[in-house]
Amino acid sequence: MTTTRPVPKAADYVIVGGGTAGLVLANRLSEDPDTQILVLESGKSITQDPRVQDPSAWTSFTRSGDCMAA
Ligand SMILES: Cc1cc2nc3c(=O)[nH]c(=O)nc-3n(C[C@H](O)[C@H](O)[C@H](O)COP(=O)(O)OP(=O)(O)OC[C@H]3O[C@@H](n4cnc5c(N)ncnc54)[C@H](O)[C@@H]3O)c2cc1C
Repeated sequence: MTTTRPVPKAADYVIVGGGTAGLVLANRLSEDPDTQILVLESGKSITQDPRVQDPSAWTSFTRSGDCMAA
């Protein structure tokens, strides 16, 4: 597990899963600067994965890897 910051002892909201829905929700809740939000994510960060950074590499996520964009 990678912890990017010390885990706070208390939070107003605890969101389990830092995927698409969880991070959209966390972002909306964080509009209130007085709100403490804790996101618990079990997976590793893939933000530096070149397949994520390069949109043209999306076919590498498919099973065959040989799909053509329409
Ligand atoms: C190969 C692929 C390509 C896709 N391409 C597109 C696209 O181009 N456009 C599009 O709109 N959609 C695309 N999708 C679909 C899109 O990724 C999903 O619909 C969307 O991510 C679902 O969001 P979610 O928040 O429900 O789940 P997820 O984004 O999967 O988030 C769930 C998170 O919860 C975490 N988690 C699970 N269990 C626990 C636990 N016990 N504790 C802590 N964390 C936990 C997981 O690690 C994960 O990060 C694609 C999906 C795949 C697989």
